[in-house]
Amino acid sequence: MPNIILRDLVKKYSRTNTAVSHLDLAIEKNSFVTLLGPSGCGKTTTLRMIAGLEQPTSGTILIDGKTVFSSEEGINIPPEKRGIGFIFQNYALWPQMTVYKNISFGLENRKWKPSRIRERVTELLKMMQLEGYENRYPAELSGGQQQRVAIARTLAADPKILLMDEPLSNLDAKLRMEMRMDLKNLHAKAKTTIVYVTHDQLEAMTLSSRIALLKDGILQQYGTPSEIYSEPANLFAANFVGSPSNNLISFTGDNVNLDEIALSRDEMQLLFTPVSGGAAIMNGQKLVIGIRPEDICLLAHGPLAGKIYSTLPSGMETIICVTIGKVKLNCVQFGRMDYHIGQTCTVDFKNEDAFPLFDAETGDRIA
Ligand code: ATP
Repeated sequence: MPNIILRDLVKKYSRTNTAVSHLDLAIEKNSFVTLLGPSGCGKTTTLRMIAGLEQPTSGTILIDGKTVFSSEEGINIPPEKRGIGFIFQNYALWPQMTVYKNISFGLENRKWKPSRIRERVTELLKMMQLEGYENRYPAELSGGQQQRVAIARTLAADPKILLMDEPLSNLDAKLRMEMRMDLKNLHAKAKTTIVYVTHDQLEAMTLSSRIALLKDGILQQYGTPSEIYSEPANLFAANFVGSPSNNLISFTGDNVNLDEIALSRDEMQLLFTPVSGGAAIMNGQKLVIGIRPEDICLLAHGPLAGKIYSTLPSGMETIICVTIGKVKLNCVQFGRMDYHIGQTCTVDFKNEDAFPLFDAETGDRIA
């Protein structure tokens, strides 16, 4: 049974400002669901509505089968009665309290027995790898340690749901990577449903059991990271997810049936032989096809001649941008590759990897 259900949820800040539009989402118990999308797409608003910190304009929210908000029935359960923990971007620890006190404070307020508090705090210090730091003050900790204290503090009362709004955005790249590992490990151990907000697609891809991809307050796709990566629902999803970015190549359809198409575009000199799917496309219809960078190979003697535009070697892999005619293609090769800019090269890809196909104007997926 899903832990959180959002039904036809709408949030309008004003008549012309709709932050969330008719959102339907079912979040399974113990899953890690990420709300992903560009700035202003309604992620934080959705999270705050689940928490009860923002009142929806209309719709229904159920938590563990219980209605916590319903515009029709006039139900609006306050945040503290929803059994939810919330971690914000600036995880504001209490500076005058030690690590131990930061974690235990909420439990003391809830009148837990001192022995039970000690047991719980010790357990959390261990889980978050903070043993030995209990007497330090927040100012004496690194960013990542402060982050872990904030998580421990939120987990202390054992919330069944943990909401996190861009919790890693203040950390440097190395620490962010470590914290992703910690978060995933924590999620496996703590058996909590996590709803996580980020605009960082890599973070969403690496952490989530499912991703809800939003644009302009509208849900674009809800699926596992690999579904979203390999079966993007529309052009927006194909473009937003993936690093290096998907190669999205524009062309104009001049055949009627995809099965019969041999798309030979002059400007790119690429040959697409039959694209399967059988969907009808119109003469002159503007289309976009996606080819993932890892599906493009640089070869000594390939069929498509191009030039090296730029390379980004990172040690483990090299991202290479090749120009073929007017088209730029990103490809990624394992290991360090030393090409120089302007060097001629050849590339190839399998026809079945030139997929999926979108209508350029509507962004809808055709095949
Ligand atoms: P970001 O990644 O930048 O934090 P977001 O996806 O979390 O963005 P929201 O903060 O949910 O987006 O905002 C969604 C839309 O609602 C935006 O257009 C924003 O300007 C608007 N909005 C958010 N909060 C308010 C508010 N209190 N009053 C009016 N408009 C708001």
